Amino acid sequence: MIVEKRDADTLRAALINDGITDEAVLATMYATPRELFVPEAFRNRSYENTPLPIGQHQTISQPSVVATMTQALELNDRVKVLEIGTGSGYQTAILAPLCRRVYTIERHKPLHLEAEQRFEVLKFRNVVTRCGDGSMGWSEQAPFSRIIVTAAAIDVPHVLLSQLDVGGIMVVPVGLNERDQHLLRIRKTEDDIETEDLGLVRFVPLISDEEMV
Ligand code: SAH
Repeated sequence: MIVEKRDADTLRAALINDGITDEAVLATMYATPRELFVPEAFRNRSYENTPLPIGQHQTISQPSVVATMTQALELNDRVKVLEIGTGSGYQTAILAPLCRRVYTIERHKPLHLEAEQRFEVLKFRNVVTRCGDGSMGWSEQAPFSRIIVTAAAIDVPHVLLSQLDVGGIMVVPVGLNERDQHLLRIRKTEDDIETEDLGLVRFVPLISDEEMV
């Protein structure tokens, strides 16, 4: 499918309008073909600044939220990132060019497999995928310099915090109620954490295996 350049131009304008200033984030969002991550039925809406269904009752995140979270992570080519909730793999595809390596976990097998195929098509060499419950993190690969959670947690996930480097940043939507989730940026210092509220967001819930039994 050919996506017209003006579609990407419109999206870029929407991101700038939403306060995205990081040029590297804007350039990566512009260069990444979102239509590869969207199911056929919604492909003509790939460049709208909106979430879209991807199956399994999950959604590909809204581009401006992807950009906000990516910008908040303050990435560089030395950082090792853990992502919980691969979903379509779109957020992963935005992270990968901006960091050293991304470790990404998805609990739904079909989504995990589809995302893996997309990473192959796009020839990413720095993305490591896993299917399973990410709420416990990835202890074999810890610590991470950055952690991004793309599903809403009820509270700050302390297991994940324990897998974050000192000086590291975690970005996570937190809130019990779907209409009252706040995107938090947490910086881990030597003996404390600093939390900033980046505003209201709406994500599908983070579901841990313990809740399923
Ligand atoms: N960033 C993704 C967003 C996907 S929605 C995108 O843009 O496509 C959030 C994803 O988190 C869903 O696919 C859901 O299945 C997954 N998820 C929820 N709880 C999880 C858990 N405990 N471990 C791993 N993945 C989880």
